[in-house]
Amino acid sequence: MRLDPLVRPRSVAIVGATDRGGPGRAVMESLGAIGFTGAVYPVNPKYPTVLNTTCYPSLTDLPEAPDVVVFSIRNPLIPEQMRLAVKRGARSAVIYDSGFAELGHDGAKLQDEIASLAREAGMPICGPNCMGILNPPARVTTYKQNIMDPAAIVGNVGIVSQSGSVCIGLLSDLRRFGVSLSVSAGNEAVTRTVDYIDYLIDDPNTKVIATFTETVREPERYVAALDRAADAGKPVVVIKVGRTERTQRAITSHTGGLAGSSRVFSELLRAHRAIEVNDLDEMTEVLAVCQGERWPKGRGISVITGSGGLAELILDNATAIGLDMPPLSKDERTEAERVIGRITGDGNPFDAWGNGNYAVNLPHAMAVVDGSDRIDAICYCSDTSNDPVIGHPGRVLENVSMLTTAARNSQKQKPYYLLSTRAGVMNRRQVDAMRQEGLVVIGGTRQGLAALDRMGRWSKGLQPSRPRVAKPNAQVTGEFKSGRRMVNEFDAKRMLAAYGMTVTREARVTTLAEVVQAARRIGYPVVLKAVSDEFAHKTELGVVAVNLKNEDELSEAFARLNERVAKLDSRPADAAFLVQEFVADGIEVFAGVSRDPDFGLSLAFGTGGIAIEAIRDFALRLLPLREGDAEAMIAETRGAALLGAVRGREAADVKSLAACLYALADFACDHADSVAEIDLNPIKVLPGQRGCIVVDALIVTRSNAGT
Ligand code: ADP
Ligand code: MG
Repeated sequence: MRLDPLVRPRSVAIVGATDRGGPGRAVMESLGAIGFTGAVYPVNPKYPTVLNTTCYPSLTDLPEAPDVVVFSIRNPLIPEQMRLAVKRGARSAVIYDSGFAELGHDGAKLQDEIASLAREAGMPICGPNCMGILNPPARVTTYKQNIMDPAAIVGNVGIVSQSGSVCIGLLSDLRRFGVSLSVSAGNEAVTRTVDYIDYLIDDPNTKVIATFTETVREPERYVAALDRAADAGKPVVVIKVGRTERTQRAITSHTGGLAGSSRVFSELLRAHRAIEVNDLDEMTEVLAVCQGERWPKGRGISVITGSGGLAELILDNATAIGLDMPPLSKDERTEAERVIGRITGDGNPFDAWGNGNYAVNLPHAMAVVDGSDRIDAICYCSDTSNDPVIGHPGRVLENVSMLTTAARNSQKQKPYYLLSTRAGVMNRRQVDAMRQEGLVVIGGTRQGLAALDRMGRWSKGLQPSRPRVAKPNAQVTGEFKSGRRMVNEFDAKRMLAAYGMTVTREARVTTLAEVVQAARRIGYPVVLKAVSDEFAHKTELGVVAVNLKNEDELSEAFARLNERVAKLDSRPADAAFLVQEFVADGIEVFAGVSRDPDFGLSLAFGTGGIAIEAIRDFALRLLPLREGDAEAMIAETRGAALLGAVRGREAADVKSLAACLYALADFACDHADSVAEIDLNPIKVLPGQRGCIVVDALIVTRSNAGT
């Protein structure tokens, strides 16, 4: 469906318009205020005119088929009016009223009725339960708030929000950016976020797309739209609060329990270069950064201040959120101190107060970091506001001219920013003067700096895709085709071993004599477990005995496990015993794969072994992995510190762990259609270069996984 009649209509019919008020009147007033030159048709059988405009008794009486019909009426009346709109050839509609799908069954029925009418007629619809659409550059609006200053709204940010309040929020502060289109999409009965994003990607007025999303309704199209936006060089900034529409099916593995759709959605955004933010503060800072003529080309940020205290505060915050603030190199420091005098700390943040010669020191500090290869964005941190009550008034514009001079002289055309310590606090004269030079004011030592980081990441794009580490294996494919819902530890490990993963030495046997014989071959101490496709979590059943040092302990464990299995409601036909080497050394980590019904497979990695579900310290990536993903996943968990050299203990073999994660990723991707969940828990990462060993494994296939 083409969106033009909806987003830039040339004629607007308003059903239910009255002089008395309501959205209909607000839209008519706003159409006047914004300078709309097309036709406006109030429709209401009660009045000959509304706001001195000829009013029509019914949609069928209109002199032409309108581009858009706006329904300023209560929901029970809408289906009948929709039929008339379709009959009159209306090309699109906006429905403000609530009381539809958001209320459950009856509302959903009403919504479906309207949606099918519209779909049949090929009509895009905004809403229901929405505020409409504002198109400042095209001078047209169906947005139900009154417009006071249309010129001040025009800009390059395209907003698509499933919540009207977020539109109100973003439109309430247009000091640093304006709007190319603002869509309050509501329940999206027909036209959806992805449709609007697609429109904005092709819209020449739009430079950046800001979205607030509770529900992604067509995951494949959504992902494709994100990719297209990235290719078009338009960042998509996303606040997400909900998840995907389909519910999660029953989960067997621990990994499945961790990878809730909200985390997966975040990974999806990352994998498709959307910029996720947590709130409107963070979002507005990213939108502000996008207004700069130059965007950061990488993540390295230098913050220059005249204050030691601020430098410390910023450093603490930056460290907590993982910003890249490279210190001055030795040469840079020498050059800086030659002019400025002594510099405290490592020079980032760069407290350029030194000998106190402000007018010389600050530009010199900027010149030094401008030359650094590791710095992609340069901020000068200085506070003022619209109503300064203290400080030298001249400083306000002096700071701007210092920054504009530095920006003009920048060797590599780096972007410069004026940073205020608080988000949202700024001085309009500075904002305007900076804008004239293509520069922007950002705010908040967290939000403002994080916006630079986000844009730097965005500019760098994605890592290249990764060469495979393991060859596809026909035997494994055969196993997946066998129709088992769950593959037990023993068989799962054979499959994983075929992909190059090291697993414990072990044997699957049934009698005590065989158990004892196997233990002799493997060597004590050993581990004894009962295995079956029906034992997903063996410890819970009491069928794992570790560190058995001799035949006595082994026989005793055998008796105990046998008894446990005998006590089960029914002994599974495939029940057997697993004798395996006991891996005493190493750090326990886990890796796993799970499937999101909308976004497919993802890989999780974490430390903490059995405590993982309580601790939830894990990294997640959608499959397939890209270059460097496994190493990054390992580094980003808090527990990763355990893998390093701790208290005299040798560091663990992280390299082989990364290789193991890549192999698992290949394994899952090769059988993407068959894999539902995989748990490798634990994997033991040995010290030095001794590798890592998969100690337990569970594979759940999709053959019978349900939906
Ligand atoms: P579950 O099905 O309950 O996850 P596991 O096979 O993972 O059973 O065993 C439970 C725990 O016992 C593991 O998390 C690990 O700490 C320990 N364990 C199991 N097998 C071994 C082994 N071969 N070497 C060392 N520890 C083991
Ligand atoms: Mg386990």
